[in-house]
Amino acid sequence: MSSRAKAIVIGSGFGGLAAAVRLGAKGYDVTVLEKLDAPGGRAYVYRQDGFVFDAGPTIVTAPFLLEELWTLCGRDMSDDIDLRELSPYYTIRFDDGSHFDYSGDDEAMKREIARFNPADVEGYERFLKASAKLYDIGFDQLLHVSFDSIGKMFKVLPKLVDAQFYRSVHGLVSRYIKDPKLRRVFSFHPLLIGGNPFSATAVYALIAQLERKHGVHFAMGGTGALVTGLTGLIESQGGQIRCNAPVRQIIVENGAARGVALENGEILKSDLVVSNADSAATYKRLLSDHKRKRWTDSKLDRARYSMSLFVWYFGTDRRYDDVPHHMIMLGDRYKALLDDIFAKKILADDYSLYLHRPTATDTSLAPEGCDAFYVLSPVPNLDGNVDWEEQAERYRARIASTLSQTVLPDLKNHIVTSRLLTPIDFRERLFSERGAAFGLEPVLTQTAWFRPHNSSEDVDDLYIVGAGTHPGAGLPGVISSAKVLDELVPDAS
Ligand SMILES: Cc1cc2nc3c(=O)[nH]c(=O)nc-3n(C[C@H](O)[C@H](O)[C@H](O)COP(=O)(O)OP(=O)(O)OC[C@H]3O[C@@H](n4cnc5c(N)ncnc54)[C@H](O)[C@@H]3O)c2cc1C
Repeated sequence: MSSRAKAIVIGSGFGGLAAAVRLGAKGYDVTVLEKLDAPGGRAYVYRQDGFVFDAGPTIVTAPFLLEELWTLCGRDMSDDIDLRELSPYYTIRFDDGSHFDYSGDDEAMKREIARFNPADVEGYERFLKASAKLYDIGFDQLLHVSFDSIGKMFKVLPKLVDAQFYRSVHGLVSRYIKDPKLRRVFSFHPLLIGGNPFSATAVYALIAQLERKHGVHFAMGGTGALVTGLTGLIESQGGQIRCNAPVRQIIVENGAARGVALENGEILKSDLVVSNADSAATYKRLLSDHKRKRWTDSKLDRARYSMSLFVWYFGTDRRYDDVPHHMIMLGDRYKALLDDIFAKKILADDYSLYLHRPTATDTSLAPEGCDAFYVLSPVPNLDGNVDWEEQAERYRARIASTLSQTVLPDLKNHIVTSRLLTPIDFRERLFSERGAAFGLEPVLTQTAWFRPHNSSEDVDDLYIVGAGTHPGAGLPGVISSAKVLDELVPDAS
């Protein structure tokens, strides 16, 4: 038995794994408890029929946040991970077949913009300045700081006002860019973290700058290689990861977290607990017996949750070499479609899609001569009234037909493996409130101090990491939520 102070981490998403590494570096004896049969959470890996499918994140930005974790263990990430920068980052395809190659190369970007509207080149330069300002505040001054007091909010408020954080991302972009298609190109980023470009705070325009400064990368072997790399770090620190270990309750003694009870009845004691489970589920399920002052069930029920996703993973027995690694296929409707998803919460007849073809970069993810894909469609969360049992196959077939008619000709005759993920899976597999794919929606009233804090307001020695806390969803966000622990958790004695 180790005499070191013990820390339990519930959940092995990127936030949980990063938290475990940081606690290990602080000297804790760390145990990660994961309900699924393998680590990764949304970054779980499906292997079937010779194909490897990353279930979720594939766009790796801010690689230095990952490198820091290796450095904390005295290691070099490049010894374990082969990260490749992509160019272009994304190809954005419009309904009329035109496309925009989005990259980090300023001159190439200006040429692309000029193809659509030469007058917007100058506006793009001004947009970059605005997004750089937001990056300086949002990324450098907000991301790694715990927003446990409203005073911290007030301190950065003047700078945020100066950077126009009160606008929406689309509102900010529209100030500088006039062409309707280009407005879509520069405003879609919040969708990558579950936000509606028309209501997500303009702070998220920093993503454009983050990509430009640090690139968009892909881990060879898939995002799963990063998960394996992180679990290796935890084990090298003496920590352990237990899969098939769902937590039923967080044990609270005298107002402080002192361990957990597993579904199988086992009790594990610890000096502190970090929850990487969805923040709403942490309070509603894992602290159901605890009287909470701030995050009561009714407050959580009134909160706004992000959209969900419909994801179809499929493999083909041929390659589609014209299709780039990341393609965003925007439909004819933009604002109205987003209204259907976020406000009306109905399943529209049309969609915008993100098509992932990892085998464009790494052929080892599919059998020889084959391609691995996933296509995702943003859909309403389970506040909507969609019967996914009934709709899923029909919706998949419609998407397959769209892909067949556009970028993947004759698709239906080449599919050799297939699987689906619907909002029900987010709720049942990952315990996400309302089946939201990205936790609480990133709107101003649910940002920084207004999000569930990283240091629980309701239970001492309980910390929260991952998409549902500060700063929010996406790999840079959840890895940063773990970095906040450096400020909050004392070194192990
Ligand atoms: C399809 C998809 C594509 C995405 N693409 C990108 C992308 O390209 N780039 C990007 O940066 N971001 C992307 N994101 C967002 C990003 O993946 C997530 O924000 C991030 O991975 C969430 O990490 P997390 O730390 O919140 O943990 P999660 O991944 O949500 O993991 C939480 C873990 O906790 C476990 N758990 C829950 N309850 C319990 C319990 N009671 N006991 C034990 N374990 C429990 C769950 O099983 C899960 O493994 C994508 C998301 C999705 C869904």
